[in-house]
Amino acid sequence: MSRVTFDDVIKKYDDVLAVKDINLEIEDGEFVSLLGPSGSGKSTVLRMIAGLEDISGGTISIGDRVINDIHPRDRGIAMVFQNYALYPHMTVRDNLAYGLKLTTDIEEDVIDRRVEEAAEMLGIEDHLDKKPGNLSGGQQQRVATGRAIVREPEVFLMDEPLSNLDAKLKMHMRTELQRIHDELGTTTVYVTHDQEEAMTMSDRIVILADGHIQQVGTPEEIYNSPANLFVADFIGSPAMNFFDATLDGSFLTGDGFEYGLSRTRADEVRGSTTTANLVLGIRPEDAHIADTPSENTIEATVDVVEPVGSDNYIYANVGSQEVTIRVPASVKPTVGDIIYIEFNENDVHLFDADTGVNVFTIEGRAVDRTVESTS
Ligand code: ADP
Repeated sequence: MSRVTFDDVIKKYDDVLAVKDINLEIEDGEFVSLLGPSGSGKSTVLRMIAGLEDISGGTISIGDRVINDIHPRDRGIAMVFQNYALYPHMTVRDNLAYGLKLTTDIEEDVIDRRVEEAAEMLGIEDHLDKKPGNLSGGQQQRVATGRAIVREPEVFLMDEPLSNLDAKLKMHMRTELQRIHDELGTTTVYVTHDQEEAMTMSDRIVILADGHIQQVGTPEEIYNSPANLFVADFIGSPAMNFFDATLDGSFLTGDGFEYGLSRTRADEVRGSTTTANLVLGIRPEDAHIADTPSENTIEATVDVVEPVGSDNYIYANVGSQEVTIRVPASVKPTVGDIIYIEFNENDVHLFDADTGVNVFTIEGRAVDRTVESTS
């Protein structure tokens, strides 16, 4: 078990800077996800820890040891790949044992014991003599995980390990990987583009965009206090609604709306930013429909009502912009209706329209201020 530390890490492919200024400390025993859209640099960061990519600048340490020039085999890591990379001609038992036999001088009976234990932990002990081709996708995934477990590494590296599974199995395996992490307590770095996976499994999430860290935080911090517009837009489904706004007295005003903040809150906003151009953000689940207009409502015209089982998504127009709100299935306005969308000022997010940075943090919504702007 060990801490993983990044100091000013960059990665260049020829002249292209793919990963920029990564400074990050992953604590011993932590489960940290690297989350971001395709091409944001997640795999590159993971592959640099693994030693599958050179580090172009800065240092990566595992524990107190800088690993930049250490052979991948000697870094104390074990990796689980998206495609599992199992040997098709070998039995499950041999797949689990092969890496240890090839790269270590661990005695055979110790290897056998580790293989049996890992197989038991993963519930594949009855499949040890089968070939991977005779296993389901979920079982193959377990073998790939088992192969990492038998190495008893200091750090697990996982690159989208669940993305080849169907939705139900994926959910099951999420819980299973969490159980294994709880049991072994091994520091884990987990790459995913799936926010739900990151939100449900991680102690902390690192959000990447364009090779930059956008925010590091617990799932709650990231959801409640997105550091900038990129994170606010990326986390949450349906996505947060955004409106250009200015603060006018106590009112946030924009195209087709006026939303009244309490005087105290308006003063707090003015105290925390000098920018005139704001973006008001409100999550679909933080809004509801009020019977009557008030200072805390904005008026909208219903465009589409989309049932999604327990809830309805209502798409409506505020001025020239679309807004999405999530309401209970029993709330079914008619298309063309005027509705009053109400939300609490504690749920309002405010960003600097020019830099994208979150300019206003409501107490209890701690934001890591070491983040980048989106511009
Ligand atoms: P992600 O895992 O988030 O999808 P990657 O780490 O694979 O992103 O890629 C980050 C950036 O680095 C992308 O712009 C990608 O095109 C570039 N990149 C990745 N691998 C290579 C490579 N071998 N050669 C050149 N550019 C690469």
